[in-house]
Amino acid sequence: MDDFKLCFICGGRNSFSTNCKTCSQPCCQLCISLHKTPSLCKIISKYGSHLTCLSETCEIHGGLEYCFFCMQCSTKTCKECYASHSNHTILRLQKAVKQIKETFQNHKHILQARQYDAIKVIEDTPRKYTELTDTEMKIEEEVIKWDKAIFKISNALQITLSDDRNKIEEIAEKAEETRTEIGDAIKNLIAMEKINFELTFLALWSGYSNDLTMLEKNDVELGIPKRKTFKSNLGDISDIRNLFGFLWSEGTKFGSSEIQTSEKKIPGAKRTDDIDQLSQRFSHSVTVTDETDKKRHSKHKGIVQAKQALEKEVTELEIEIKDTLKSKQ
Ligand SMILES: [Zn+2]
Ligand SMILES: [Zn+2]
Ligand SMILES: [Zn+2]
Ligand SMILES: [Zn+2]
Repeated sequence: MDDFKLCFICGGRNSFSTNCKTCSQPCCQLCISLHKTPSLCKIISKYGSHLTCLSETCEIHGGLEYCFFCMQCSTKTCKECYASHSNHTILRLQKAVKQIKETFQNHKHILQARQYDAIKVIEDTPRKYTELTDTEMKIEEEVIKWDKAIFKISNALQITLSDDRNKIEEIAEKAEETRTEIGDAIKNLIAMEKINFELTFLALWSGYSNDLTMLEKNDVELGIPKRKTFKSNLGDISDIRNLFGFLWSEGTKFGSSEIQTSEKKIPGAKRTDDIDQLSQRFSHSVTVTDETDKKRHSKHKGIVQAKQALEKEVTELEIEIKDTLKSKQ
């Protein structure tokens, strides 16, 4: 009789029982094969603490048989315990088991859906990882693009400044030569003032006046490059995020079918145009101011007036000489 222990699987005492080698629970000969699937022994081991009370009778109510199950409290009740679960769903043991097992299909569906989600996340991970790496590379490419564009603009500006530096050096050399020539011209003027013989004076003047005109032209300043300053547009970087770009979230979560790809939704100018805009803004930012323009103009005007006055005087002198010569004849 001792060998007819309660079988943990079928609940019967109908055969010679044995203990499972894995979970050590008693089991009949008919059910022992089920222990060969590892999950059954595993579940017995995991929830084994719940198996300690397999009593079929109520200890509180003097050995009354447990014939009901409270679905809310997940506990067995005898006819007397029943009263303390007044608003609960109380079912006979067999019916409770049947009803619980009926929900298993639904649990399976939910778990399979969760499993599918998990598999999808695992499967999608390499693709998502690659996408993130690609995005990172795009940002780096953009940085290089900007870097190149700015470097190109910077180079052009530097070349202009370098040209200007060379030019003003050349002009300074030329001015040095001119200064010497002007010094000579002034000496010549002083010398010519002393010539009183009209014919000599006029003969010399016809040669000298051209040189004087050339010297008075002041073409030195005409070639001086305009004054330039650099205004950096990067002083105000508040709009740099729109110009450079930002991370655009597609859809609401991984695997979402709602993917927004419209380029138009990205605020600001199209990114391909940004570099051009940037370079345009840079080229405009080099302001050219010319404070010497007016000064030079008035100086030039003064020279022209002086020359005209001198020519007038010479013309008058010529007429006077001709008249004198005529009167002598
Ligand atoms: Zn059994
Ligand atoms: Zn077992
Ligand atoms: Zn209850
Ligand atoms: Zn009871």
